Amino acid sequence: MVSRRQLFACGLVTASVLASSGVWAQAYPNKVIRLQVPFAPGGTTDIVARVMSEPLGKALGQSVIVENRAGGGGVVGASELARAAPDGYILGMATVSTTAANPAINPKIPYDTLNDFTPITNIAATPNVIAVHPSFPAKDYKGFLAELKKNPGKYSYASSGTGGIGHLQTELFKSLTGTFITHIPYRGAGPALNDTIGGQVMVIFDNLPSALPHIRAGRLVPIVVAAPQRLSVLPDVPTFKEVGLEPVNRMAFYGLIGPKGLPKDVVNKVYNATRTALNDPAVRKRIEDTGSLIVANTPEQFTAQIKAEFEVYKGVVAKQKLTLN
Ligand code: GLU
Repeated sequence: MVSRRQLFACGLVTASVLASSGVWAQAYPNKVIRLQVPFAPGGTTDIVARVMSEPLGKALGQSVIVENRAGGGGVVGASELARAAPDGYILGMATVSTTAANPAINPKIPYDTLNDFTPITNIAATPNVIAVHPSFPAKDYKGFLAELKKNPGKYSYASSGTGGIGHLQTELFKSLTGTFITHIPYRGAGPALNDTIGGQVMVIFDNLPSALPHIRAGRLVPIVVAAPQRLSVLPDVPTFKEVGLEPVNRMAFYGLIGPKGLPKDVVNKVYNATRTALNDPAVRKRIEDTGSLIVANTPEQFTAQIKAEFEVYKGVVAKQKLTLN
């Protein structure tokens, strides 16, 4: 299993800090809170949001309802969130795709990831996986690479959207291995998985929580994972680091953000409610059973983490000369 110490080493957990209550808003929340998921149902963003919405609502004393606003690799939803009123009644799921990967690769992105949001907390870090349809002619990394090298352009890969982590990291994989597979973007990992399971697309780059049930059921074959070390749920699958591709060996994250200017007392209230929700062993188990690691860092730590991830992806884009075309 990946430990918190290893996550610390990966920069995903900066410290384990207990919630500080801060100044509590008296009136907030006094109506339903919308939690925006900038991807389609069935992906990891949706999974984490739906696990959290009920316990978060309980801790806040108001209902938290999940709304999917998919499109553009998460950019459609994130742009809407950036322009929303900072009153705490619309919060969003922040992913590595919307806050770091897409802002790094997309020069026309309609928001400033470092200034247009108020980070609250990173709920969980998740491994990533490249998996194939069972009819793909290889079942392990060596065979996978050999098959791609033998047949440049024969295969396609599904991702959760243009400019997202699946797109960017697979392009990085292609660049480092000298292989070519065609990108097919979807409105989230949910629809990307549907087509890969259906055999319309042979390869998928996904975050583990959404792919794992299909791997367990034999509908997808895992080839290689991005994680600090081999996963106890997939002990035979190597990490990108093991196969010599350390730059691809980065995890995804799923946190909470609001529009910029979210009042500090609202931030603290949502942060503390998230910590309360994650203190419930049943909620923790539901998240950990997906292959995720709970992070629950402070708003300041999450702000620094987003900045650091953005810098990493900017570096990757510049070094590999990756573009959206
Ligand atoms: N791959 C996306 C990300 O990590 C999320 C995919 C989805 O939830 O559909 O940002």
